[in-house]
Amino acid sequence: MKGLTVLGSTGSIGLSTLDVVTRHPERYRVVALTANRDVDGLLGQCLSFKPQIAVMADATSAAELAKRLAENGSDVEVLSGVAGLEQVAAMPEADYVMAAIVGAAGLLPAMAAVRAGKRVLLANKEALVVSGHLFMEAAEAHEAEILPIDSEHNAVFQCMPADFRRGLEQVGVRKILLTASGGPFRTMPLEGLKAVTPEQACAHPNWDMGRKISVDSATMMNKGLEVIEACWLFHTSPQQIQVVLHPQSVIHSMVEYNDGSVLAQLGNPDMRTPIAHALAWPERIDSGVDRLDLFQIARLDFEAPDLERFPCLRLAYEAVEAGGTAPTVLNAANEVAVQAFLESRLGFLGIPTLVERTLNALEARPADSLELLLDQDRQARVFAEQAL
Ligand code: NAD
Ligand code: MG
Repeated sequence: MKGLTVLGSTGSIGLSTLDVVTRHPERYRVVALTANRDVDGLLGQCLSFKPQIAVMADATSAAELAKRLAENGSDVEVLSGVAGLEQVAAMPEADYVMAAIVGAAGLLPAMAAVRAGKRVLLANKEALVVSGHLFMEAAEAHEAEILPIDSEHNAVFQCMPADFRRGLEQVGVRKILLTASGGPFRTMPLEGLKAVTPEQACAHPNWDMGRKISVDSATMMNKGLEVIEACWLFHTSPQQIQVVLHPQSVIHSMVEYNDGSVLAQLGNPDMRTPIAHALAWPERIDSGVDRLDLFQIARLDFEAPDLERFPCLRLAYEAVEAGGTAPTVLNAANEVAVQAFLESRLGFLGIPTLVERTLNALEARPADSLELLLDQDRQARVFAEQAL
């Protein structure tokens, strides 16, 4: 029986995780659950999963949750804030930690899990984008096991030889082919992009996800963040990662070897597959996902991405090439821009413009401490908010 903390349990990945866990009560016990402000959501989860601890990011919500739990006769302990999140990420009863908070807000809790040497199921890609170098270093120092949940990285992990950490050259890998659906606007005439609404941007053709990552998929910043994420997870350079548009989202990514072999992982677009994979690894368990029906899918298409349509992808490649604090700034500016777009304070095409302006304003510096990176994150947010 493995104890599991789910950070961000009320979100899209959190709900899918609890769905998989419910199918295997003999394997996993939920020891902690966390949410930002969704008291009703976390209350319901506490009553069904009976964790030891629940954490709300803000104190008012935590007080409300504690009151409602008491009214329901529950003795779940309630904590709040980053300290609470860090505590449940590192608690001794948690063997595994699902890191599924969205954005840089998930970094410190995920880092706490890493420093406590947990198996970290990493959905929160922004944590690696902001501090990949320090994150991977800490994982090695504390013998934390990082298993990727992002479907592409989980696919790459499945297609890699077991000893890939020796270095991709050593194990005969030539490149990583990162697939991308191209989101809802892949074929929309360019003039139309100016006027798209948050609702259109969040209506992803294949995946049902949280609103921030849905907008990132529409701008393809999501793929940019994933290129950076892959560089850290697989110890590789951005030149060895090729983005391939594949509108059906059936091949979740591929690995090309020196002998010409290309290995791919396929499946229906449902995050319960990578979640179940990482929970059970190296075993395999039922995820509840429908079987892939190749006759129904019938065809798989591939295209090169259009960097004029998707400037965010170019900006992400440039940021990872620049290195140091540049990916941190890219991520922070993007979080501000996406939030502003979702609140109709910024047009869709304003997202890459704001990110580029912020990158130009805050010059890249070496990233040698978490304090420095968090400070750059703050500065980039302040600049981007003002530039809005
Ligand atoms: P979501 O918005 O649906 O859920 C986010 C969760 O984090 C919620 O539980 C929310 O309460 C919590 N949260 C939000 N802000 C917080 C804060 N400031 N402090 C503490 N908790 C906070 O997001 P999601 O789609 O589940 O995505 C979660 C992460 O997984 C993201 O990093 C995303 O990029 C990644 N991811 C998601 C998918 C997907 O299919 N949804 C796929 C790949 C990767
Ligand atoms: Mg992905």
